[in-house]
Amino acid sequence: MSDLEAEYRLDYFEEEGFVRRECSSCGAAFWTRDVDRELCGEPPCADYSFIDDPGFPEPYTLAEMREAFLSFFEDHGHERIDPYPVAANRWRDDVLLTQASIYDFQPLVTSGETPPPANPLTISQPCIRMQDIDNVGKTGRHTMAFEMMAHHAFNTREDAEQDYAYEGEVYWKDQTVAYCDELFESLGADLEEITYIEDPWVGGGNAGPAIEVIYKGAELATLVFMCMERDPDGEYEMKDGHTYSFMDTYIVDTGYGLERWTWMSQGTATVYEAIYPDAIDFLKENAGIEHTDEERSLIHRAAKLSGRLDIDDVDDVEDARDDIADKLGVDVDRLRALVEPLEDIYAIADHSRTLAYMFGDGIVPSNVGTGYLARMVLRRTKRLVDTVGVDAPLDELVDMQAERLGYENRDTIREIVRTEERKYRKTLERGSRKVEALADEYAGTDEPIPTAELLELYDSHGIQPDMVVEIAAERGADVDVPDDFYALVADRHEEIGASAEEEERDERLRDLPETEKLYYDDQGRTEFEAIVLDVFDREEGYDVVLDQTMFYPEGGGQPADRGQITAGETTVDVLDVQEVDGVVLHHVDDDPGKGEFVRGQVDGERRDRLRAHHTATHLIGHAAREVLGDHVRQAGAQKGLDSSRLDLRHFERITREQVREIERVANELVRDDVPVRQEWPHRHEAEAEHGFDLYQGGVPPGTNVRLIHVGDADVQACAGTHVERTGEIGAIKVLKTEPVQDGVERVVFAAAGAAIEATQRTEDALYDAAATLDVDPLDVPETAERFFEEWKGRGKEIESLKEALAEARASGGADAEEVDLDGTTAVIQRLDGDADELRATANAHVEDGKVAVIGSGAGGSASFVVGVPDGVEINAGAVVGDLAGRVGGGGGGPPDFAQGGGPDVDALDDALAAAPDVLRTLQEA
Ligand SMILES: [Zn+2]
Ligand SMILES: [Zn+2]
Repeated sequence: MSDLEAEYRLDYFEEEGFVRRECSSCGAAFWTRDVDRELCGEPPCADYSFIDDPGFPEPYTLAEMREAFLSFFEDHGHERIDPYPVAANRWRDDVLLTQASIYDFQPLVTSGETPPPANPLTISQPCIRMQDIDNVGKTGRHTMAFEMMAHHAFNTREDAEQDYAYEGEVYWKDQTVAYCDELFESLGADLEEITYIEDPWVGGGNAGPAIEVIYKGAELATLVFMCMERDPDGEYEMKDGHTYSFMDTYIVDTGYGLERWTWMSQGTATVYEAIYPDAIDFLKENAGIEHTDEERSLIHRAAKLSGRLDIDDVDDVEDARDDIADKLGVDVDRLRALVEPLEDIYAIADHSRTLAYMFGDGIVPSNVGTGYLARMVLRRTKRLVDTVGVDAPLDELVDMQAERLGYENRDTIREIVRTEERKYRKTLERGSRKVEALADEYAGTDEPIPTAELLELYDSHGIQPDMVVEIAAERGADVDVPDDFYALVADRHEEIGASAEEEERDERLRDLPETEKLYYDDQGRTEFEAIVLDVFDREEGYDVVLDQTMFYPEGGGQPADRGQITAGETTVDVLDVQEVDGVVLHHVDDDPGKGEFVRGQVDGERRDRLRAHHTATHLIGHAAREVLGDHVRQAGAQKGLDSSRLDLRHFERITREQVREIERVANELVRDDVPVRQEWPHRHEAEAEHGFDLYQGGVPPGTNVRLIHVGDADVQACAGTHVERTGEIGAIKVLKTEPVQDGVERVVFAAAGAAIEATQRTEDALYDAAATLDVDPLDVPETAERFFEEWKGRGKEIESLKEALAEARASGGADAEEVDLDGTTAVIQRLDGDADELRATANAHVEDGKVAVIGSGAGGSASFVVGVPDGVEINAGAVVGDLAGRVGGGGGGPPDFAQGGGPDVDALDDALAAAPDVLRTLQEA
């Protein structure tokens, strides 16, 4: 095994007079200009020495530092690239949020399949790291939202055997370190104080040498040289225990934390004061937090001390608090009371910026994916705002950040925040009862409410742990809240996995060429000729692979084509069509024979209906964005023959007026009969021109993407089959809208013939109703309302008649017999009514102060109801038990009111005749 030591022996280090040292404290190898240096410079081996002693002569704001970085690299031959959205799942399906600038170029650019947008390039990429959510505000240095400034260069080896989308070397390690050094110099840093620590990098199947750049105690940059891939036969063993070998491509992947650099230039006690000064001033004032000079100095000294400590998470903060209070000679409770509200304010500023990025980039809160993460951040922020007593509306706080970040959709952002706050309030009202019940359950025990319950309360009811703690304390229950609670929640929602089954299937098909797809040449054609390349046995039927096909495989929510394949005399039915890695599998009921020359016939009517529905889906999506706003994105779609559905991310219910407007906009495009064009541009050109909104139906693979343009109105990356002109759709009818989950609205609609059929069905129903009511169809609503009111009135009348009848019966019906029981009157009566009537009658007697024994033979069985007024010592349950026994059954109930019965109706009268004796016996007992 080799190690990577030689990889760090750079000419640049030698020319500049650097020496290699090993840290006398932690043993890490590092490079420095200071020949006497013994320590690597990174905490815990060294302190943050830039607090109150900035590392650059001039203070920079975030915006100034970003500009300084980007223009430095522009001046050094790099092209400046616009940042990508924070929702990385819009161009790749293995992650949710953007966490580093290299995410923008994975997986296709890093693998060499597609060229980068520029080479070399520089970017300042907004990122969100949910893992740090619990630390934000408390440690003084963690932020959840941050910008990773970077420069990247994409290289391939001269002797590469394959063709790659970029060729040759732009620059590599020496130049990368030289740039870093020069950037420091241009900002006026003391180069003697910089250390370059050797720290090999491993991640996502790749690896390479990497350098951490430390200045005055802070890690300011990471220079990663991605040049190896996992290889069982590789000669380098890395820290993950796997072996690696060199790849044909080698990539410069750097990361310079914008917040750290800004902080370094200001030397404030915490990073938050350097990057959110305005927001912090505003929040402090709003929450009425004022400090005396003495308090201010105490807070500053405490922050500086904690800056010097090795604080990586909240745990350490609490431990350190005692130490710091001790060193400052103050009471720890006093320190906590001073510092905690500030910590909340720092977190609010950070979370508001995170939300501005999320909503600005079009994430809509929901219970899945990025929508869930946004919801979680918003709820946590709301909680913090309430705790610290900030009364500025949350939408205003988020808007302050959105404005600073230059987002144009600020009205939508505010609307989303307000709607989400309303939903949260409702959830809390419902959820607090749950917590009370849970607290009561654990109150008597030694056990605290377990973490699993907390996670469940949060996931299902949005209840945050501090609220559980409050309620539990009131009810005497304990709660153990893990320090990384929110990170745990985020973890539960961030996992995306791939199935092993799929991988296995792919392997089977690897040797077959990609099927030529004729349906893109002429989407209206239904006949073709082809050669059977292979036939796979399946449990039921066969999968046939042809050299070319007109059959559209299921994909993008569009069902597969159907039809027939004919080989000589044999015709087989195509029951399903699927595509795996470019190979189209025709699922058929019989084997047409490998190597046969065949003719294919696609079911044209089915194809036409699907084309019309597919293009209509694009029109509905376009119309919805026009009517509801630009934040609307597709959450899913399913095209069908009779109707289709489109799921849209939207934060509230779609109103009836909005439905009509969507229908109007969509049908206007149909009437305009605009052309529907397809083109296959390079994905980067397409992304640059139209943005990631192209990928409404998911991200397609490949260097080139197929775009569907509907006139000039709408463009989407889409693999489906479409009409040639929108006029062919004829008509689009929205059938209904419904919420499928929080934050996702489903629009069900029909197109072409199906739209007319759907309208006819609705009309038929209306005509049927009109015939029954014997009125004109247009008068149905009014008539129905009148009938309904009358019907309700009659129901009430029947109720009161029943009551009157019961009272009449009680006051001496024909079969009623009154007996005296030691001064109390008992009424024994047969009344063949339903259970309601029996109970009403018994109640009427009991209210008169009488014992009631009511029997009924209605419905083919015998039943009894017995009621006993207060103060009479007879057990109604026992009476029913006895009487029911006489009709072959059983029953019972509480002592004041009971019911029961049995199958023997003929014995009912005898049982009632025996009732006086039964009552007397039970009274004596
Ligand atoms: Zn060290
Ligand atoms: Zn489509």
